[in-house]
Amino acid sequence: MWNPAQSLAERRAAGLERRQRTLEPVDGIHARVDGRELLVFCSNDYLGLAADPRLQKAFAAEADLSGVGSGASHFVSGHRPVHDALAERLAAWLHRDRVLLFATGYMANLGVIDALVGRGDRVHQDRLNHASLLDGARLSGARLSRYPHLDMTQLDARLQRNPGARQLIASDGVFSMDGDVAPVAAMAQLAARYGAALMVDDAHGIGVLGRTGGGVLQEADLGQDAVPLLVGTLGKAAGTFGAFVAGPADWIAMLQQQARTQIYTTASPPALAAATLAAIDIIEQDDGRRQHLQDLIKRFRLGAGQLGLRLLTSRTAIQPVLVGDAAEAVAASAELERRGILVSAIRPPTVPVASARLRVTLSALHEDRHVDQLLDALGDIPALRRADEAASAGGAS
Ligand SMILES: *Cc1c(COP(=O)(O)O)cnc(C)c1O
Repeated sequence: MWNPAQSLAERRAAGLERRQRTLEPVDGIHARVDGRELLVFCSNDYLGLAADPRLQKAFAAEADLSGVGSGASHFVSGHRPVHDALAERLAAWLHRDRVLLFATGYMANLGVIDALVGRGDRVHQDRLNHASLLDGARLSGARLSRYPHLDMTQLDARLQRNPGARQLIASDGVFSMDGDVAPVAAMAQLAARYGAALMVDDAHGIGVLGRTGGGVLQEADLGQDAVPLLVGTLGKAAGTFGAFVAGPADWIAMLQQQARTQIYTTASPPALAAATLAAIDIIEQDDGRRQHLQDLIKRFRLGAGQLGLRLLTSRTAIQPVLVGDAAEAVAASAELERRGILVSAIRPPTVPVASARLRVTLSALHEDRHVDQLLDALGDIPALRRADEAASAGGAS
């Protein structure tokens, strides 16, 4: 029978109960938590735009003009000129024909995969893909095949096994809990060879990677012919909220007709679209933010390597420190908090068993001294140092 208390108790006993913290933002990188001001290293606001006055102004101006709620779904009466402006702006920026807006990235992935495939089709996904991609496959009823992380030989073999079937490859662009980058060029080649559709969810690459922040596909110079479906989220580097899928006009027109998570939900507040438009101007033009972020990433990796911390192969703003044991990760997070730094511990099932970690994320608003402060604190936690090679500088790539 139903026993929610027991489920909770089991989760707690396994050390996997999640705890929600309440943050009162102080500035882009500091927040008050339980009455104390902490330096935050666990936000996805990689470019520091969430509290940018230009976004706030654009948001407020549109809210003054058109109110807060859109009042209905896009197909009924919720679609506004600023939604069109945002879709066109995104398409131009990312060099795609057309863009369809979604309320969130989670809904974009559910809606796109469910619209593209169904019973009898196959979806190939990296084992470390975001939950929303996996859930999209489950919702669609297609057969889900999860290949080992980044393993293109396995993906090739699996695609080859299903000649004649409609196949979709879906991958994170930058992996959300590891920070590494998918081999998108190789994926595009495989997709072309087997006639599979390819979808890249670049939630963590958009804004951060690429010459004008176009993400992993811009960096790899892959247009919509190579990768027809690009999903992006706006709640991370863009500093606002929402998501989109970008691609060739016919694909997007088809998705607009069939993506149920877009059709049967209220259109986002128009003010959000206005704020996102302001964010895109900054993302596109202010390469200095990306440069500074890259400098911080290098500084962090160098220092962490010298301390013997276990880093992953990441050149993005996501720089996890591996711990392994879930309870130890939680304890390390608590210790950092005592020292004035907020970093969350990520545990199974979000990450594979025995790979609990501190998911450190950097922001363009951090300064060198903030990174040094973080390194000092991390270096004082013995459980974070590699057991084997106490302090082999630079060995952790
Ligand atoms: C955060 C994230 C999402 C979900 O986006 P939301 O807009 O927060 O719902 C989807 N995919 C990946 C890879 C993500 O990291």
